[in-house]
Amino acid sequence: MDLIDRLYQKIKEDPLSPKMLIVPSYSQGHQLLERICERFGSVFNVEVETLQGMVHANTAFELSRRKMRFLEDEQAFWVIRQLMLHQAEADPHSYITHKSMVNPGVVRKVHQSLVELRMAGVRSGEIHPNDFSNESKGWYLQQLLDRYETYLQEQALTDFAGLAEYCTPTADNTRFLLLQPAGWSRMEWDLIEKIAGSQLDIIHFEEPFYSHARFSNNRLMMFRAAGSLAEVREGFRRMIAEPEPLDQMEIMLSDYERYVSVLYSQAEASGVPCTFSNGLPISYCTAGKAALAILAWIKEGFPVARLTEMLRSGCLQIADHQASAVDWIRLLEQSGIGWGRHRYAGILDSRQRMGDGQQELGMKLHEVLQGWFDKLPEGSGWRPDLLLEWLGDFVEKHVPLHSSDDQNVKTAIQAWSTRLSGIRVGSMTPEWAVRYVTEILNGIRIRVDATPKPGAVHVTSIHNGGFSGRYRTWIVGMDERTWSMPIMQDPLLLDEERAAVSKHLQLVREQSKQFRNVRDARLSLICGELWLSYASYDPGERESRSPAFEMLQIMRLQSGDDTQDFSALERVLGQPYSVMDVLHPEERRSTYDEIDVWAQYLRDSSGTRDGWKAVSHAYPALAQGYLGQVNRQDERLSVYDGWLSTNKAGSDGILGQQAISVSQLEKYAACGLQYYFYSVLRLRPKEIPVFDRARWLQADERGTLLHHIYRLYLEEVTEFGTKPPQHDRRKLYRIVDQALDDAAKSIPAPSPHVQKKECEEIRRDAEVFYRNEEGKTEEPCYFELELGTPEGEPMELTLPEGMRVKLKGFVDRVDRIGPHEYRIIDYKTGNMKKYASAEYFSGGTQLQHALYSIAVEQWLHLTGKDIEARVTEAEYSFPTVRGRGEYVRRKQDRREELGDIISKLLDSMNQGLFIPAKDVKTCTWCKYQSVCGSHAEWMGNKRGAAVNAAVLGSLREVEEID
Ligand code: SF4
Repeated sequence: MDLIDRLYQKIKEDPLSPKMLIVPSYSQGHQLLERICERFGSVFNVEVETLQGMVHANTAFELSRRKMRFLEDEQAFWVIRQLMLHQAEADPHSYITHKSMVNPGVVRKVHQSLVELRMAGVRSGEIHPNDFSNESKGWYLQQLLDRYETYLQEQALTDFAGLAEYCTPTADNTRFLLLQPAGWSRMEWDLIEKIAGSQLDIIHFEEPFYSHARFSNNRLMMFRAAGSLAEVREGFRRMIAEPEPLDQMEIMLSDYERYVSVLYSQAEASGVPCTFSNGLPISYCTAGKAALAILAWIKEGFPVARLTEMLRSGCLQIADHQASAVDWIRLLEQSGIGWGRHRYAGILDSRQRMGDGQQELGMKLHEVLQGWFDKLPEGSGWRPDLLLEWLGDFVEKHVPLHSSDDQNVKTAIQAWSTRLSGIRVGSMTPEWAVRYVTEILNGIRIRVDATPKPGAVHVTSIHNGGFSGRYRTWIVGMDERTWSMPIMQDPLLLDEERAAVSKHLQLVREQSKQFRNVRDARLSLICGELWLSYASYDPGERESRSPAFEMLQIMRLQSGDDTQDFSALERVLGQPYSVMDVLHPEERRSTYDEIDVWAQYLRDSSGTRDGWKAVSHAYPALAQGYLGQVNRQDERLSVYDGWLSTNKAGSDGILGQQAISVSQLEKYAACGLQYYFYSVLRLRPKEIPVFDRARWLQADERGTLLHHIYRLYLEEVTEFGTKPPQHDRRKLYRIVDQALDDAAKSIPAPSPHVQKKECEEIRRDAEVFYRNEEGKTEEPCYFELELGTPEGEPMELTLPEGMRVKLKGFVDRVDRIGPHEYRIIDYKTGNMKKYASAEYFSGGTQLQHALYSIAVEQWLHLTGKDIEARVTEAEYSFPTVRGRGEYVRRKQDRREELGDIISKLLDSMNQGLFIPAKDVKTCTWCKYQSVCGSHAEWMGNKRGAAVNAAVLGSLREVEEID
């Protein structure tokens, strides 16, 4: 007789008396009853209950009569956390200090130990600290349990362990049929015995499945795969190929959390309907995604990128009849907010920052966000219950709730908020509040279908499975590590401490053994066809996995050969299946997605075949990319290297009607391709400020600030260049402080510490600048000089040899160094590496000093400021700590070469030549790296190839100039 027969016998024994079937979950009980009905016809007078349900029903009246309330386990967690805080305050040197208990994992462990002590019936007075390997741990647990007992008493509360006091024996002739439980505590046995008394029958499982004679009649199929995805895919292939209906299949996951997402995605992709006994994480519905994403937004310092991502994925809606999600995304991305709670208000509210077209929308968004921020605490006043309340409100107002899953998530969040509102949760930092709430959300499940449904594959955990009675069962993840349930000692209650504290405290090794025994016995319920599989490799941990010993046992049982060992099992399992399986050409396979179709195409009886032709035919863009790569690696220069043959870019922007931009010309000399992407195609990476906890000012913001400071100072001490400088350090420091204050108003810092550190760095840079200036005899006379006509048009320059160019730009500073003799200065806030003193034009990448020298000289003449002016020197100055206050000067005595260089560069451009950089180091900080890959390296060979000599001639000549 199997379990179903025995259970039926018990029900039939006294047909008129009521029966209560006590099982770990309602779904298991209902599945058992269904199987009885299938086999024997209908049964009556049987009710399914869990121990918890039965005890609550039994004690509800008595609790209410004595005005007691029940403390749920999740609430007890927060009570214990508070008591741990009190204990840490009362004794700063206690076993768990204030600092170490902020971690939710530590609190969870303590909570679990206290529950175990309570469920073993241990009172605080029975704990002797010297029973512990570490006495202070014993003291700690004893005192904490004492606090907990006192708290329950004072608050007129009871937890589950305390309910034994309020239980009353059943008053009728109900018979209690208890399905053999695993790892029950003393209090659980006490509770059931008090209620059921002599009317209790325990229904035991049978032998473990792997030694059960009847179990060997099942049809067996085993396979292994190279990873969990490959394992699930192989199972789906087999399942779809079978003629039996899908709802004859139960899939049991040895590690539910690890496999369920893989299984769900494969089921969705293949259209196989599934029910999930333990449900799915909330991230599989819009409301869950939104709740987790908004918590991440808070945790990461409110980055705009999170909000735009949410808007884009449709899990955030900001209701407005005029603006769509695209409008909000554009507004946020263009606002320059980047991140930071206070930047939203500061920028969205500012007419100046938002620009004319965006003001109205900015104000609306400001109103919405202010509503969020107003309800979020600041500093360390955060509380998980308040955050949950906020989150519930957020989901209700700003998340499109399309499905019942979304509604369930909203309800679950609100239920948690209510559950915690009745108890004191205590305040904490935002990081910890977010972490606690994220843990709570991760525990919520959607799409829970505890019982199988017609038309759908039923997916269960190994602890819930085996009850469905379906013809086919597939156990997934049967590797040794997952299946063996490794014994993990509880550091707070080691086995020897448990034994010493109370004989009723279960030892971890005993618990584990009991769970395994019950699991293995329960699986003997399976009858029909059994599939076993495991992943022989874990890509996450990069290690191989072995099959579980039970797999071998089942094989022995089936074959009747006890001498078979793991090598025999290996032979039966054969080669592991892979995601795109081409290793089993002998098998006739069903295909359920395009990966499989490709695999089948690429496999033939002789093994695999080259499928490039078919792939390139199916994916023309891929073929085009491949062609590009082949051409880039070829010796001959081609359009794939940026040689357009004719200048499709035109010469606009360089000469002729348009003004020349020196920086663009230099950029072309450094890398033609970069110039082409930037100036011709106008490709720009999206510039969205990102939150960096360790950084206040970006490099360009810092450079602008230093330029601004140096300019203001020199203007002040030279009276706008009209007098020799009268240096005064206090003036400089006042200007620095003012500039830093202004910067702090418009660019909030991630923390005062980071801001202070960077302010100090800027003060040190200013000090370097001051020391440099102090000893100089030259007279600074123009600052941020704009090169242009009085009408604001670009200047027209005449270069030696008559070449004429239009030019615009700014010169940082001009110093008078002698009678009618000048030096132009360009401040650099980086280091000097690029500006070797031996170089002059540096292959055409440093033209600015020469062009600006001519321009300033002509400007002085034209404006009449100094009609005899000569700019004889140009200087790159490095007035920062990083630049060590050094400078590089270039005597302006090579003007004849300048025209030649510019004309060669233009000539090269006019040939349509926009090739990658000569110096691969240029690519290091280039924003187009992802487009180019190793293109600059491959160009090395082409530059030297004779076949390209004619077209590269002009450019190479410029590159050779020092
Ligand atoms: S990655 Fe290198 S080759 Fe490509 S555009 Fe940038 S600098 Fe030029």
